[in-house]
Amino acid sequence: METPPLLKPGLYRAEGSAARPGQPALLGGVCACGHVFFPLQAYGCERCGGVDLQPRVLSGAGRLLASARVHLHPGKGREAPFTVGSIRLDDGPIVRTLIEGDLGALHPGLAMVTTLVPVADAEGAPRLDLRFAPEGV
Ligand SMILES: [Zn+2]
Repeated sequence: METPPLLKPGLYRAEGSAARPGQPALLGGVCACGHVFFPLQAYGCERCGGVDLQPRVLSGAGRLLASARVHLHPGKGREAPFTVGSIRLDDGPIVRTLIEGDLGALHPGLAMVTTLVPVADAEGAPRLDLRFAPEGV
């Protein structure tokens, strides 16, 4: 079976990073001052204001900071309930993301990794989108 294309190829890739070859990597950036950020942008560094920004591949791994189960969602295109979480990536940035997996086991500090899940785009075509899930589950 053919693998569907990524829903947001500007934000992540199916291939892992050198540190985490088994997990889809995030496409972030790094400033000349050393500040690492996600997603990649060209507006300027949020720490020093500099514009010497370079792409950096970020490992798809981090630690859960907090999570919340959403039971009512007014937006279209996503059916409640679902779980959102804040994750501090091993490379530094904090991302807010959808979480898959055993929801009863979520707690701050839990090791989380990226995974690709099948979704449909706005026209209904099959795509793969990025989620985080507890590591080893
Ligand atoms: Zn900077």
